[in-house]
Amino acid sequence: MMTVSNNSALSKHLNQEIDISKISSSKTPLILIVDDDVFMRKILVRYLERENYHVVEAENGMEALKLYQERQPDMILLDALMPVLDGFECCSRLQKLPNGDRTPVLIITALEDRESVDHAYEVGASDYITKPIHWAVLRQRVRRLLNQANLRIQLESANQQLAIVVEELKRLVSIDGLTQVANRRCLDEYLDQECRRSQREQQPISLVLCDIDFFKNYNDNYGHQEGDYCLKAVAQAVSKCTNRPADLVARYGGEEFAIVLPNTDVEGGLNVALRATEVVRSLQLTHNFSKVANHVTISCGVATLFPFQEIEVTNLIKSADLALYLAKAEGRNCVRQNI
Ligand code: GH3
Ligand code: MG
Ligand code: MG
Repeated sequence: MMTVSNNSALSKHLNQEIDISKISSSKTPLILIVDDDVFMRKILVRYLERENYHVVEAENGMEALKLYQERQPDMILLDALMPVLDGFECCSRLQKLPNGDRTPVLIITALEDRESVDHAYEVGASDYITKPIHWAVLRQRVRRLLNQANLRIQLESANQQLAIVVEELKRLVSIDGLTQVANRRCLDEYLDQECRRSQREQQPISLVLCDIDFFKNYNDNYGHQEGDYCLKAVAQAVSKCTNRPADLVARYGGEEFAIVLPNTDVEGGLNVALRATEVVRSLQLTHNFSKVANHVTISCGVATLFPFQEIEVTNLIKSADLALYLAKAEGRNCVRQNI
């Protein structure tokens, strides 16, 4: 059964601007510098601090992985050759840690051979520069890698928001705004799908059409606002009389509702229709202008199609419509079945 609490989630997401241009986050990035050469480390620290980054230091790969988990740096500058755990192995292990594959790693090393460069990229490094360091190049690489990582985070967040909006829109196009049950469009699609399925799986399908009795009198005397309130209450009540996940309650037209009951025979269809009349009756919504009761009632027409008859949407609706006509003609506030 479908219901919608409100669509504020959608408007919240639609109103929220996704500004990709704000790719640099407001907080100062934290860079993890990993090098066994203490002199090299100190120059890197000094240089990057002058560039207004926060820095933390590690002297080998093992220490780097520990610090990474404690401090969650935004980027790592990694020496290749180190004792205990070298840069390549460290980078490789980092990929398996939470967010590790999203943290840019810039390998800084004296190794210039093709194998080492290839290896660095294979283990997940984002980029590679050689010693002696060309400081202007380092500065730009660091900036670019941090910006790219930020951009990726922003894009992922935008994608998540978009997915939520798409889901919400999908839901809204299938729902009747007033009564919050499935709308006519959804009903048509569902009937079509389920009739074909019933035929394929050789199962019966039932349809109940419910129509509020003397609803024109209700509107004319209590006003349209009260009429709308009554429609909502009836829709919610009818929704409660179905139990199976495949059952669908929908607004068929003005004050008419349809209940689609896949894999349901004559007896099952009749039961649901009787329950629907009962739940509406038990709402006890005063209707002093009805000619059948002093409260709001519905009439129901039930139809069931079997695979040997060839299951067709138009036949099912026509048949339920005819049953509803009989229920109206034979006194209202009752259920009639077309078999
Ligand atoms: P019957 O017992 O034969 O079904 O009589 P009825 O008066 O219910 O049937 P009729 O089809 O003549 O009237 C349907 C009324 O439903 C017409 C209109 O006043 C009301 N109606 C249809 N859609 C809406 C709606 O969205 N809101 C409100 N408030 N009323 C609606
Ligand atoms: Mg009607
Ligand atoms: Mg009516």
